[in-house]
Amino acid sequence: MRCVPNSVVMTVEGEGVRVGTPQVMVRLHGCDYHCGYTDATGTVQTGGWKCDTRESWRVGSAWVDESVSSVVDKVRAHYCDQVSVTGGNPLLQPVDLADLLAALREPWFCPSRKAWFTGMFTAVETQASIFDAGVGTHVDLWTLSPKLHAWRTDVVTEYLDAVLHGGVDGQHVQFKIVCDSSESVREALERVRDIHSYVVFQAPNWGAGRVTYSIAPDGGKGRAAVELVKGALYSWIANRKAGVYPVVRVSPQAHKGIGLYAV
Ligand code: SF4
Repeated sequence: MRCVPNSVVMTVEGEGVRVGTPQVMVRLHGCDYHCGYTDATGTVQTGGWKCDTRESWRVGSAWVDESVSSVVDKVRAHYCDQVSVTGGNPLLQPVDLADLLAALREPWFCPSRKAWFTGMFTAVETQASIFDAGVGTHVDLWTLSPKLHAWRTDVVTEYLDAVLHGGVDGQHVQFKIVCDSSESVREALERVRDIHSYVVFQAPNWGAGRVTYSIAPDGGKGRAAVELVKGALYSWIANRKAGVYPVVRVSPQAHKGIGLYAV
C-alpha cells in the first residue's frame, strides 16, 4: 500500500468523540482533492480550503510502498488497542485498506511477549468523496470530514445507509466539519440539519445514537479561534431554538493547539 514516509506513529486523538485516547495513526498517501495547491504557473489554487496534510498528496511528494503485513507489524509494535487510518484519502486504496483493517481487528499472538492481544478498535478518516462497502465492514468508527466546497451528498448518504442498515455491530459515524469563517459555520450547521433529518427518518428509534457531529474551528490561533468557537456556539443555540436539532460538538483541534502529532 502507498504510505507517506514514517506513516505509522503513536499519538493521542486530538478531536472528536474519542479525543484524548491513545491511538496509532497510519497515514496513507494520495488524495483525490487537491486543496490549496500551487499550479505549474505558480498560482495558488485554493479549491476553497487550505490542506494541512499536503505531504500526503502533493505532486512530487515522497511516498513508500509497504506491504499490508509490514504496516500491521508496525502498528502492533505499539501494543495499543486503537488505530486510526487517515490520509489524504485512504479510500483511494480500498482493497489494501480493507485487508489492513481486517487484520488489525483480529486478536494476535506476540511471540516475544508470549501473550495474546485483543483485536484493535478501527477508525478511518476521510473527506467522504468515495464510499467502499468492502472497507466498511471492518470499520468501527468512520470520521467523515467533508469539505464544504466539495460536499458529496450522494456519497455521504451511502455512508449513512451503511452505518444505519449495514449490520456492523456498534459502528458509528462522526462528522467533523472544519470551518474557517462564520459563513462556513452557518453552512456546516445547515448540512448537519439535513443529515440529522435523514438519520431520524431512516432510523427513528436508534439512528441518532450512531451519528454524531462536530465543528472544528480552524480560524488560526488566539482571538480569531476564540471568536470562531463563540460564533459556532451562538449559531448552534439559535438553530436549537428554531426546532429539533442534534447536539453539535464544538471541537477545537487539540493536537494543533498544543502541537502534538506523535509521541
Ligand atoms: S481533502 Fe483533505 S487531505 Fe485532501 S487535499 Fe483537501 S484538505 Fe488535504
